[in-house]
Amino acid sequence: MRYVTYELAGERRIGRIEGDLVQPLEGPAELGRDTPADVLATLVPMGAPVARASVRLLPVVPRPDKIFCVGLNYHAHVEETGRELPAYPVLFTKFTGSLIGPADDIVLPPESRQVDYEAELVVVIGKAGRRIARDAALDHVLGYTVANDVTMRDFQYKTHQWLQGKAWDRSTPLGPELVTPDEADVAAATVRTVLNGETLQSSDTSKLIFDIPTLVATVSEFTEILPGDLILTGTPGGVGHRRDPQVFLLDGDEVVVEVGGIGRLANRVRAEAPALVTSPAWSA
Ligand code: ZN
Repeated sequence: MRYVTYELAGERRIGRIEGDLVQPLEGPAELGRDTPADVLATLVPMGAPVARASVRLLPVVPRPDKIFCVGLNYHAHVEETGRELPAYPVLFTKFTGSLIGPADDIVLPPESRQVDYEAELVVVIGKAGRRIARDAALDHVLGYTVANDVTMRDFQYKTHQWLQGKAWDRSTPLGPELVTPDEADVAAATVRTVLNGETLQSSDTSKLIFDIPTLVATVSEFTEILPGDLILTGTPGGVGHRRDPQVFLLDGDEVVVEVGGIGRLANRVRAEAPALVTSPAWSA
């Protein structure tokens, strides 16, 4: 199954994808904390399906309790950064307010000159747990989606903590769909970035240094994971900052990140400064 969180006429709903249609479902209004796997599977249709083109897709999990991200999780990316192969996953976080919808514009903040792309497979948690064993980890997965881990490199490298370069407000497209494990083959899914038609990242998930069960086990060792929590699994080689010459996102660009069989995010890049908001409209 494939699910989305969307808005139509001011109303937020979970929808099940049926071709070009979205079937609204009764129950919780968004994917996340209230849709563990056993609940999601029981949601029933509510009313008639609507055209997918008529809805505004939100970040597929609009308000996750936690967003874990993994740095340096593909050999080629570790090599291009000139770092040692990590013995333990490099973890950092984003905030709920970091997320944007799958078709929203990526707005270049006036403070950064080095806004970069990172194509990533995302694991969505579907069952709470703590100290989960590696061999039980996949029981806690609700499904998979895609993120562009948009990064302000000049802010990432101001200190040895990456926080401010990674958790910028309204920076990170997430979605478009949650794909349940029965429909998702993530053993060797392609992971690509295409910027203005040029392929800049191309790898597949078989090259992850720390695989999905290891990541679920690792994060749940120190904190309880909850339904709707996200794990961004890291990006392959080819990021803009490590290219020669360097490539950064510019006003008017179209950046596409894609994970084979899971989804595709296409976002327009826009330099215009956003109106000052204390939180994204969809998270109110
Ligand atoms: Zn990343």
